[in-house]
Amino acid sequence: MTKKIKSAASLQKEIAGQARNDGAKHTFLKWNDYIDGKDKSVVSLSEGYSLEQLGHYSFYSDIYELLFYLCILIYSKIVKRTVKMKTDILVIGTGLAGAIAAIIAADNNQKVTIITKTDDVISGSTATAQGGIIYRGINDSKEKLISDITVAGAGHCWLPAVLQLADLGKKLVDELLIERFGINFDSDEQMVNEGQGRKHYAPTKPQLNDCRGVLHMPIDNSINHSDLHLTAEGAHSVRRIIYSKDSTGLTIQKAVIDKLQNHKNIEILTNNIAIDLLTLSHHSKSSLDIYKEPACFGAIIFDSKTNKTFPIFAKKTILATGGLGQIFLHTTNPPEATGDGIALASRAGARLINLEYIQFHPTSFYRKNQKRFLISEAVRGEGGILIDKNGNEFMSRFHSQGNLAPRDVVARSIQNVMLETSAACVYLDISFKGEDWLKARFPTIYDYCLDAGINIAEEPIPVVPAAHYSCGGIGVDLNGRTSLRRLYAVGEISCTGVHGANRLASSSLLEALVWGYLAGKDASIPKEDDEYFPEINDWISETEPMDAALLAQDWTSIRNTMWNYVGLIRTKQRLHRAKKMLRELQLEIEQFYKKAKLSREIIELRNGIETAITVTNATLESPVSRGTHFIES
Ligand SMILES: Cc1cc2nc3c(=O)[nH]c(=O)nc-3n(C[C@H](O)[C@H](O)[C@H](O)COP(=O)(O)OP(=O)(O)OC[C@H]3O[C@@H](n4cnc5c(N)ncnc54)[C@H](O)[C@@H]3O)c2cc1C
Repeated sequence: MTKKIKSAASLQKEIAGQARNDGAKHTFLKWNDYIDGKDKSVVSLSEGYSLEQLGHYSFYSDIYELLFYLCILIYSKIVKRTVKMKTDILVIGTGLAGAIAAIIAADNNQKVTIITKTDDVISGSTATAQGGIIYRGINDSKEKLISDITVAGAGHCWLPAVLQLADLGKKLVDELLIERFGINFDSDEQMVNEGQGRKHYAPTKPQLNDCRGVLHMPIDNSINHSDLHLTAEGAHSVRRIIYSKDSTGLTIQKAVIDKLQNHKNIEILTNNIAIDLLTLSHHSKSSLDIYKEPACFGAIIFDSKTNKTFPIFAKKTILATGGLGQIFLHTTNPPEATGDGIALASRAGARLINLEYIQFHPTSFYRKNQKRFLISEAVRGEGGILIDKNGNEFMSRFHSQGNLAPRDVVARSIQNVMLETSAACVYLDISFKGEDWLKARFPTIYDYCLDAGINIAEEPIPVVPAAHYSCGGIGVDLNGRTSLRRLYAVGEISCTGVHGANRLASSSLLEALVWGYLAGKDASIPKEDDEYFPEINDWISETEPMDAALLAQDWTSIRNTMWNYVGLIRTKQRLHRAKKMLRELQLEIEQFYKKAKLSREIIELRNGIETAITVTNATLESPVSRGTHFIES
């Protein structure tokens, strides 16, 4: 059927009418975001218009009118995907936690949209994880693992969460990582062939899969990967960690992303950064929504390739944005770890807990004016010894577990020794293992150090502590649900309670796997009011260019303040100073954010300062030293 078009204005009215008929569920964008201020009507182009719909036109019609219709047609085709953004489940972050949640939800027939702010879908800390993931060792048991986690966590772990990890962890490694995704962790055979060791594995008994009523896929307990080689890390009472050389995270991530990319129910958007969560209390145009239970119905997204800002409406939103290491001067984290999820959740009003517990990894490669690079704890697990600048071993005088003491103890001991010896770093010696062994077991670390001029088979590695992992985050339950309805958080951005005041090595990949799986399942279950999408206000785009010098200097201020005042060793005075300085800086940043032309950089800076303040406040409100949070009186 065709219809005659009389004028641009009438067409536009029709489109706007259609948009209204679609209901407030669809994306509404400012017309002049796209068509240069020609008309200020708010329209939805979600359905697009065919040539037939545009109708007959006479050769003598106004040529401008024709061009105008064509522009609408072309534009609606181009932006169709962007404008019509409604999905069942929106996952923010393509690290292990987000990717697993997305795959499991998609398996459960949910339409999933997963976004990452990076150009590469392989992003976040997952891809940089070296050491490995907890499995099960010889004479190991759930009870031993629970005890190791809670001891490392300084008695501050939430037991139901630790039990859940111990119950489900190994099974999900078997069922998902090894069986379904086909990940080849290093085996005993490989190690023996490479002259590196002996078998360390004892088969385990099947574990009961009850877990207090949470939903599980059927777990096949007959699976037993008894040929996997096991390594040790700090504060583990047995060797129970499996790995893939010293690039475990990348191996896992590649396999998981491959499944993500080939899943028919999943749409992946790269270069898309979440600016804010959409909540009933903050974004609904209906004033009565304020009386409803606070809930999240999606997020506002900025596409840094097209420079477009648009909302994605979702029945459920899963935050999986990873860590916050970039708010500190020295960090092992990748550039994207700017703590966005904490800032988003904080502004949306979700509950944040345990943020004072920042784990500083004891050993990152030290070279003045060079980016930090993690020297895995597995190096100490394989016998590496920390020495001071005079060659003296020192950990035995700080802790009975010596070089394999919990991370916070090792990190502070290093800091003390650096002060005692007036040295810029200490050293980690693994040279006695020999070149062939080191090249086979730690190829990434070996190559990195060699490139930086250190042959680790001949000399010790210069190391310093660096911010590594956020034990706290968005408080969640056993299924990853946050305090905001329809919002989940998984992986490092969440706080499940597993890590308490200090994380046990190699437990975070496992936590990302377990909670990613459970949140993906839970989010797939329809719940009351899931389909409520209120109308929202239009996004107003600003145009002021960003001043790169301000941006760089603001980041320097945040990072230095956090490192010096909210770092390894804290005092009340330093924390108060930090709070004051960060608050002032935030006012400035908010002011220029409001007027600035959007970019990934400015969004990250706004999130960085918000997260730094949130962490500082949590630290100030926690007067007792525990685990990674150390207050010097
Ligand atoms: C150097 C290093 C080594 C480690 N080694 C180990 C190890 O051996 N074993 C272990 O268990 N743990 C290890 N960890 C910790 C572990 O890797 C992380 O805790 C875990 O991978 C976090 O996974 P995640 O899915 O939560 O987040 P990440 O893998 O960090 O992914 C975060 C994702 O969110 C995206 N994102 C962030 N903000 C936004 C936004 N605003 N909008 C859109 N997308 C966004 C990022 O682009 C990324 O895709 C290590 C960490 C580091 C840094």
